[in-house]
Amino acid sequence: MYYGRGLSLMWDPTYLLIIIGAVISMGASAFMKSTVSKYNRIMSASGLTGRETAQRILSAAGIRNVRVGAIPGDLTDHYDPRTKVVNLSQTVYGRNSLAAIGVAAHECGHAMQDAENYLPLRLRTQIVPAVNIGSTLSWPVFLLGLLFSIRPLTTAGIILFSLAVIFQLVTLPVELNASRRALKMLEGTGILGREENAGARKVLTAAAMTYVAALAASVLQLLRLVLLAKGRSRDD
Ligand SMILES: [Zn+2]
Repeated sequence: MYYGRGLSLMWDPTYLLIIIGAVISMGASAFMKSTVSKYNRIMSASGLTGRETAQRILSAAGIRNVRVGAIPGDLTDHYDPRTKVVNLSQTVYGRNSLAAIGVAAHECGHAMQDAENYLPLRLRTQIVPAVNIGSTLSWPVFLLGLLFSIRPLTTAGIILFSLAVIFQLVTLPVELNASRRALKMLEGTGILGREENAGARKVLTAAAMTYVAALAASVLQLLRLVLLAKGRSRDD
């Protein structure tokens, strides 16, 4: 049943783990989108846009070498540590909603992490090349090991895949910390009032949950690889 098993690999019972992971990810993403759209309709009392918020926070934090720019797309906001630019999506850049202000402040949180060489951020940047190699090679290596019953190859595939899990594990404190800094700055600078800050917090919490969901989905995928490798070695 050599090839038969190989061919049915995508439909084995462990595939259920992939489906559970996908459902968790979709649920978190839907929750985030609905939370963002809710707080996109609530405008801040200060009337500051995402761009103005970012500029204020950066200057309040004493960061002068970071620019604020606009990029196309929706939910594409990010801080680029190489170019030192807080890139805000069009809706965040020019809008004065609680969601826009929360997201803009979060990206400034990353700029603050970069400015003080925050260790988890540095670690995340440093492991990116290894993670890219891992995610390209993990499945081919793993499948070759499975098809030809070469144990070291399946193990190597699992190790390569776990790099992606480690990356998501390191991402979590980076994201939570950026949001914590954001909310502190929003309240400290008076950009948002206490009640408004609660709205921004909900947006950032919903965004953080998508990272938790991504981590959970990856762990389930890793578990699947381990189960497949174990099942195969039992057959041998
Ligand atoms: Zn972030």
